[in-house]
Amino acid sequence: MATATTTWESTHADTALRAFAARLGGELIRPGDAEYDAARAVWNGAYDRRPALVVRAADTIDVIRAVTFARERGLAVAVRSGGHSMAGHGTIDGGLVIDLSTMKGLSVDPERRVARVQPGLTWGEYAGQAQAYGLATSSGDMGSVGVGGLALGGGIGWLVRKHGLTIDSLLSVDVVTADGRLLTASADENPELFWALRGGGGNFGVATSFELQLQPVGPVLGGAVFYPAAGAKDLLQAYGCLALEARDELTTMAIVMQAPPLPFIPAEQHGRLVVAILVCYAGDLEDGQRAVAPLRALGAPIADVIGPMPYPALFALTAEGAVKGQHHAVRSMYLQHLDEAVLDTLLDHSQRMTSPLGMVQLRVLGGAMARVPADATAFAHRDKPYMLTLVNGWQDAAHSERHHAWVEQLWTALRPHASGVYVNFLADEGEARIREAYSPDTYQRLAAAKKAYDPTNFFRLNQNIKPLA
Ligand SMILES: Cc1cc2nc3c(=O)[nH]c(=O)nc-3n(C[C@H](O)[C@H](O)[C@H](O)COP(=O)(O)OP(=O)(O)OC[C@H]3O[C@@H](n4cnc5c(N)ncnc54)[C@H](O)[C@@H]3O)c2cc1C
Repeated sequence: MATATTTWESTHADTALRAFAARLGGELIRPGDAEYDAARAVWNGAYDRRPALVVRAADTIDVIRAVTFARERGLAVAVRSGGHSMAGHGTIDGGLVIDLSTMKGLSVDPERRVARVQPGLTWGEYAGQAQAYGLATSSGDMGSVGVGGLALGGGIGWLVRKHGLTIDSLLSVDVVTADGRLLTASADENPELFWALRGGGGNFGVATSFELQLQPVGPVLGGAVFYPAAGAKDLLQAYGCLALEARDELTTMAIVMQAPPLPFIPAEQHGRLVVAILVCYAGDLEDGQRAVAPLRALGAPIADVIGPMPYPALFALTAEGAVKGQHHAVRSMYLQHLDEAVLDTLLDHSQRMTSPLGMVQLRVLGGAMARVPADATAFAHRDKPYMLTLVNGWQDAAHSERHHAWVEQLWTALRPHASGVYVNFLADEGEARIREAYSPDTYQRLAAAKKAYDPTNFFRLNQNIKPLA
């Protein structure tokens, strides 16, 4: 009897699955399919998970079907656009992945300077296409990151001081909610959902389309200047002050890392600890030269590759980090001050990096991002001047412990100085850390929105906000 029931159930399930697959405009990929391994892979190779089903959605209807199918069968769901979740949230063991990476549509209305974009486009692709109109939207500093994940968490990149966070350019979002409805969220329609989506991540549904404000962005003054690590403490202190006081047009980041073997870096420096200062001046190029000059004179550079370039060319600076499948460990924090103790600790620890992919990134924020009221969106930490991110990357899983330890030890030493965290730079760190990404008021309001739009916490493989009790 048990066997007969099982057979009937599995046949029924198989028929339902075939019917589901037949209705999809996109693809259904299952274990055993030729594409399965590629379809389950994400940026962070530390997450080697085996989903039961991957739905590569072709359009919004596919997304509605996938959400409905998963809900009716009690399957847990992972949602993925560009696959760059540091916490591996874009893949899942045994559940259903809604993969939006082939939903890459973009249309630009140059008159209104408004773009409508699907979540699977990368920010590098977006920048390249928008630049054809001389336009850009503030996004991140890495071209391979997906529109979907970044645009729901914040968006801190090359234009953040000039044009604010990505969420500050969001005009509307189309979202498929857990009950399979398609809602538009904007200042006029479902405004509370719109507030929550701008910082609350994937908690409220699957975003299938974003409407974004574009800005005219001509050639920028961009690139990097590299200094030897000797004297790095004074250099970073001076950098921190200059970068914070700079005009909004100038957004920068300092990276402590081993010098990469790039042709413009002298061969004898390759592998040595250096400080790279990356710059983007979005404005008049002569003003830019004047604004950037002090950052090029902080010491005797070993390489200086700053010059005028189209805005999308900036993404080449960080392209190395885009390699998919390597293991990564990440910890991030905002800092209120750039204390001597912080610099001593991070520079001392950097001497013992375990991998050429290790780095400490110091982003200097402020500018337009800081002028938006903290409660205007669900992104609470607009007042934080600095963001410090510790990253390690490696290939061989056998050495994971050592590479993780490098990040964890530095994180533990710096933790007392931390003042909140950017939700999109969180790894899988637990509920207390998710709360650190928000103020108590913001978290409470997000929990209320979660109750209104996803009361069963169907979308929970994310930096999860629990529905208000
Ligand atoms: C190498 C690297 C560089 C980065 N650089 C920057 C940077 O410069 N600036 C910055 O701000 N951030 C940066 N990030 C962080 C980045 O913003 C987040 O990791 C973001 O979530 C990635 O988006 P994704 O679509 O590529 O990732 P995914 O893994 O596809 O998505 C991450 C999560 O977002 C949610 N999500 C994604 N798409 C949707 C959708 N359409 N609807 C609903 N929920 C969705 C899901 O919960 C998903 O698990 C970087 C990350 C990496 C790994």
